[in-house]
Amino acid sequence: MLASFAGLSLPSAAGRSALGMAIALVPMQIHLLEGAMGKKTPDFTSTTNACKLCRPLGAVLAFRGVAGAVPYLHGSQGCATYMRRYIISHFNEPIDIASSSLGEKNAIYGGGANLKLGLQNVTAKYRPKLIGIATTCLTETIGDDLNLLLGEYRREFISGGETGNEIGEQVGDHQGAPTAGAVAPTLDRRPRPLLVRVSSPSYAGSHVEGFHGAVRALVEQLALSPVNGRKPAPKASAKAAINLFPGLVSPADLRLLKKIVAEYELPTTILPDFSDTLDGPALEDYPLIPEGGTEIAAIARMGRAAASIELGRTVPEILSAAAWLEAGQGVRRHCLGLPLGLRETDRFLILLGQLAAPGSEPVADARPDGAGEYREVPASVPPAPPFLPPRQAAARGRLLDAMVDGHKYLAGKRAVVYGEEDLVVGLASLLAELGILPVLCASGGKSGKLAAAVGAVIGDLLPSGAAWLSRREAAPVPLSAAGPGGASFPPRAGGPEIYEDCDFFTIAERARQLKPDLLIGHSKGYSLARELKIPLVRVGFPIHDRLGGQRILHLGYQGAQQLFDAIVNTLIARKQDESEVGYSYM
Ligand code: SF4
Repeated sequence: MLASFAGLSLPSAAGRSALGMAIALVPMQIHLLEGAMGKKTPDFTSTTNACKLCRPLGAVLAFRGVAGAVPYLHGSQGCATYMRRYIISHFNEPIDIASSSLGEKNAIYGGGANLKLGLQNVTAKYRPKLIGIATTCLTETIGDDLNLLLGEYRREFISGGETGNEIGEQVGDHQGAPTAGAVAPTLDRRPRPLLVRVSSPSYAGSHVEGFHGAVRALVEQLALSPVNGRKPAPKASAKAAINLFPGLVSPADLRLLKKIVAEYELPTTILPDFSDTLDGPALEDYPLIPEGGTEIAAIARMGRAAASIELGRTVPEILSAAAWLEAGQGVRRHCLGLPLGLRETDRFLILLGQLAAPGSEPVADARPDGAGEYREVPASVPPAPPFLPPRQAAARGRLLDAMVDGHKYLAGKRAVVYGEEDLVVGLASLLAELGILPVLCASGGKSGKLAAAVGAVIGDLLPSGAAWLSRREAAPVPLSAAGPGGASFPPRAGGPEIYEDCDFFTIAERARQLKPDLLIGHSKGYSLARELKIPLVRVGFPIHDRLGGQRILHLGYQGAQQLFDAIVNTLIARKQDESEVGYSYM
């Protein structure tokens, strides 16, 4: 849906139609016209088949992971329709996305009236606990001030507005507490939904930024301050609660994370949690709002947790909910990569073990400190992490056994990995552990952290002398210069190429030359795999040419095991298919 020109991204056809091809697009049209007339424009850049999705789509997914919430787009109908189609084709679940349904007239006069009417309608029809409002290209381009409009809406339709204290009362309302602090005079006595807003223009980021931005907005706008500046002391027998920000992972991943923290007996708030709301059972009646999701009261308590764990080495600081909680509420933040593959999972479980063991001081961390340097995770981890619960120890043992069994099929293979930056980092880590060289790691994201993050997880597994080739640089970049996190590795040659902010045109161009054995990523790589006549192992989001994308397990030892099986069997199947004699077994 995104097309970018001269460093800017154009909205999709839906947004363009509503904009009426407004003034903001005129300079870009000139570029197009010049191109059509054969005049070469030196600064012309374009995106062909983006390796990312639209920003508010990520916000919708995050809001879907909150109990009783309805996602609401302030924009045109087409945006909501496009996102519903994408989400449904991956999750195979119905999803309602409300919209302020702006048309051409609103592009001129503003969308405030539509926004307020839509909020009234959604409140009356769905009776949600929360409405998560995300802006779109159109409303950001015309300059609708969501904060101002929601302030007006609260004054007009919600008695006394909605201050921080009233949010607290409303949180109580939704838990059944008998307060009447924010009841709308115009409807009935039931509490009005909380309104959480996030700015998410698609020309300023991908679905990943939209996702993290919505999670941060939920925390910023709902988390209550510590009581009198101090967190309540945990009960003597109880372990202090922790926050877990899992990033954009699958419902199956979320279910596994919940099991793992339960094995450590750590009371944990996972935000968001769409393990049920986007992968539910068949029901007789269609629920307008499905069961499941992170409880609003639990989000409100996140500022009083003992610590936050943020999964993802490329999460932008400004969009990090854990960073906000640390800066504003004093909740210690721990940053790790997605626990994907053996060593990244080890690091996650080491940290959980430390948090679960009273008095121990966590050490595993991979975030920039105040000076911009990374506190490096240990390059080598112990053979098995301490505090490993029995189920995890068994799963780790099975994974190691499988690696031994399958190394002869995988050693020396070459893969192209693409998708969301943190998923690419995790997959690169797993592949390197399996003996597969990720020759190209590519993403449409542009955090500026991808090369460093890949370096941090696989630098010590690469052949001696390996270096990065980053698209931002003209020449191979030694690991020592790859940015924060790469500093501890010596310069090497022959390492993977790391492309941020790239599209499938670029990925295809390089893949044709690199001649990989397989692709690993989402369904949008299918046509490239078909062209190169190599297999595509489907992971991540979106997967719309296979069933079960929501059930793919990526994380933990169990996820690594499943990905290992998928990769090794895909390569064995290809070898059989290409063989003249096929296969037989006595
Ligand atoms: S918000 Fe998304 S769907 Fe809507 S115009 Fe922008 S890119 Fe297209």
